[in-house]
Amino acid sequence: MVKFMDLPAQYQSIRREMDAAIREIVESAAFIGGAKVAEFEEAFAAYQGAAHAVGVGNGTDAIEIALESLALPPGSEVVVPANSFIATSEAVTRAGHQVVFCDCEPETYTLSLEALEASVTAKTRAIIPVHLYGHPCDMDGILKMARKHDLRVIEDSAQAHGAEYRGQRVGRFGELSTFSFYPGKNLGAYGDAGAILTDDAELAERCRRIANHGRTAKYDHDMEGRNSRLDGLQAAVLSVKLRHLDRWTELRRAAAAEYHQALADLPLRLPREADWARHVYHLYVVRTAARDELRAHLKEEGIETGIHYPISLPRLEAYRGRVPAGISPVADRFAGELLSLPMGEHITPDLVARVANSVRSYPALGASAS
Ligand SMILES: *Cc1c(COP(=O)(O)O)cnc(C)c1O
Repeated sequence: MVKFMDLPAQYQSIRREMDAAIREIVESAAFIGGAKVAEFEEAFAAYQGAAHAVGVGNGTDAIEIALESLALPPGSEVVVPANSFIATSEAVTRAGHQVVFCDCEPETYTLSLEALEASVTAKTRAIIPVHLYGHPCDMDGILKMARKHDLRVIEDSAQAHGAEYRGQRVGRFGELSTFSFYPGKNLGAYGDAGAILTDDAELAERCRRIANHGRTAKYDHDMEGRNSRLDGLQAAVLSVKLRHLDRWTELRRAAAAEYHQALADLPLRLPREADWARHVYHLYVVRTAARDELRAHLKEEGIETGIHYPISLPRLEAYRGRVPAGISPVADRFAGELLSLPMGEHITPDLVARVANSVRSYPALGASAS
């Protein structure tokens, strides 16, 4: 069997270090706030190259809080990609704004600049580009458009810890950038966790206050906020894992290179890395019209796969009647063709060979290869 991801194996590989870190939190009862949270925030901001990090409860809250900190006029339109997880659009609605979906481009599956330009109206106030699957968006193009139309930019970096755009890590191209540490992400906690990065001290302070009941001191609330904090246990787990992240990313990139070689001759569209990008392969996503058949075949062969995402956001029931039909033809079609192969630091060359052999033994693909 080839697992889609293998978090138990990852834990075993760092067990002593992790157990000590967890024990320290439990023994000191530093469950909420405290030195370990501040330590992780500082380490993570430095890792991504941002001035400030605010730990929050999860990656969805991170987007919502980042949006709230911008204090856009109520009902503003916020553009998000059609091909993403619902968290990106959900946060817009929950922050009191109007979601506008933008189609993706066929090379990296991130948002299309042409579609973005077409989606901007007089009410548009912000864009949330998603560095999807671990591949950065074309940030120069997005920032240029943002300047032209006076739009704020929040990067949804939930899948892109350590990814680089033109030699710089994502997370400081937008005014704010949000991260998820959901367990399956490249840097994952042992539960829910997230963070907001920014170079703007004032925005950082506002996010911190929103995430912590609007308080400045313990019972001094000059506004209402909410409860969405990074907890001490998760911060300790994340600090341990952050020390291994670069090595794990290298292993993901090596696995991607192996896949690339092993699958190159097959009629599958393989992931591409733009020449200005450093992809961190949160997911290794291939594309084929025979997606469902290939997936069933791989399942029979004991190979786990995923689909990211099976329904484009505008086509979800949640948005029926709320967004125009047919606004994302590319994302709508790709939703039936994308297949995520097993990926993670557990994917050795041997496992890539097993997956590749199984893909090849699917008649429709193997036959046209030779
Ligand atoms: C995972 C994810 C989120 C949400 O993060 P949670 O921590 O699960 O709330 C947001 N955006 C994208 C693109 C994601 O992949």
